[in-house]
Amino acid sequence: MLVNLEINRENLKRNLEKIRSINKNIICVIKDNAYGLGIENIFPILLENNCNYFAVAYIEEAIKIGEILKNFEKEKKLNFLENRKIKIMALNYIEPKNLKYVIENNVELTIFNFSQLSDYLKILDKSFENTVLKIHIKVNSGMNRLGFDENEILELIEKIKKYEINSKNNKLEIISIFSHISDAENQIETEKQVEKYENILKIVDKNDVKYQYKHLQASPLLFKYGEKYNYDFARVGMALYGMEPLSYDVGLLDVITVKSQIINVRNVKKNDKISYGSKGIVNRDSKIGIVSIGYAHGFQKQIENSEEAYVLVNGKKVKIVGEICMDMIFIDLTDIENVEVNDEVVIVGSQKNIENGITEKITLRQVAKWAGTIQDDVLTKFSGIKKTVD
Ligand SMILES: *Cc1c(COP(=O)(O)O)cnc(C)c1O
Repeated sequence: MLVNLEINRENLKRNLEKIRSINKNIICVIKDNAYGLGIENIFPILLENNCNYFAVAYIEEAIKIGEILKNFEKEKKLNFLENRKIKIMALNYIEPKNLKYVIENNVELTIFNFSQLSDYLKILDKSFENTVLKIHIKVNSGMNRLGFDENEILELIEKIKKYEINSKNNKLEIISIFSHISDAENQIETEKQVEKYENILKIVDKNDVKYQYKHLQASPLLFKYGEKYNYDFARVGMALYGMEPLSYDVGLLDVITVKSQIINVRNVKKNDKISYGSKGIVNRDSKIGIVSIGYAHGFQKQIENSEEAYVLVNGKKVKIVGEICMDMIFIDLTDIENVEVNDEVVIVGSQKNIENGITEKITLRQVAKWAGTIQDDVLTKFSGIKKTVD
C-alpha cells in the first residue's frame, strides 16, 4: 500500500499538555481502536506520558490493552509503569458472556439500563462469590442515547441495595456516576443538561449511595467552558488526536499526516472525460495525475462533489477532479511544474513549497467540510491504512 498515515508523537503529547492545563485528571478515550489510529500505536504514547486511565468501547479493546501491558512486562519495558495502576473503563455495551474476563482483569463497566444490570447480576450470582464488580453508572442528562433517566434513579438505587443484601457476598463498587453532553456549544442546552445531572447526583446522595467520582467533560465541554465543569475527570478523545472540538479553533496541534504518491501522469485534451461517469470533463488541455488513494482507504467518496477539494504536491494546492475511485483519485497537475510519477502527495497534513519556502496545510476539518461530514468520521474511516509513529 502506498498510502501511509503518520502519527506525530510530539504533537499528541503537546495536545495532552494543553488538555491537562484545564483538567489535570484525564480518562483518555481510545475507543474504536483509538479513533482508528490503532490502540497499539496510541496507548504506549499515552502511557509514556503518565496517563493511567483509559476508556474503550469493546471487550476486544480491553483485551488488547492487557496484551500490550503483558508484552511490556516481558520485554522489561515496564520501568515507567512501576507503582502505577492502569485502569480501563468500557463505555459501550459489554456482553454478559464477557463478565469473567471483566472481573478477572478489573475492567470497569458502564451500566446504562435495567436489563443490562440484571443480566450481569444473574451471572455474577450464578458463577461468582466474594467478587467485586466495578461499575460506572451512566445517567441521561438529555442526549437520550444511553443512561438512566432521573425518574429511574430511585429504582436503580433500590435494586443495587437489594442485590447486595441477597447476594453471595458479591458487591457492586460504584466507581462513578457520569453523563455526556450532546451540544456543548449551545450554552442554554448545556446548562439544562448540567442541571439535570446535578439533580440526579442529589437524589443519589440523599439516599446514601457511595460512589467515588463524577465526570461530564468530553473535548467540546472542556474547551468551551474551561475548568467550570471539571468535576473529577475529563474523558477526552478527539482533542488528543488533534481534532478541533469546537466551531472555532482552540489551537490543538495536528497529530496525523496522510500521504500517498502519484502513480501515473497523462495529458488529456480539452473536453475529454476523466474517471467514471460524466462528472469529470476537463475544460482545458490538462495534465492529470493519478494518486494511489481511494474510498477503500477511507478517503470519502463524497469529496468528489466538492468544487474546492485539493491535495498538496510540491507544496502547492492541486485540485481533485472527477469521480473518486476505489483506490485512486484524479488530480489536476496542469499548473504544476517538475512533477513526476512517484512524487509525494499530501492528503491530510502539511507540505513545504521548496521554491518559496511556504508551507501549505490540509486539516481534518477541511477534509470533513469537503465531504459534508465531521472530523471524527474522516479520521476513523482511515482505520485500514498502514500507520507509522514518528
Ligand atoms: C467518545 C466519548 C467521549 C470522548 O469524546 P471526545 O469528544 O472525542 O473527546 C467521552 N465520553 C463518552 C461517553 C464518549 O462516548
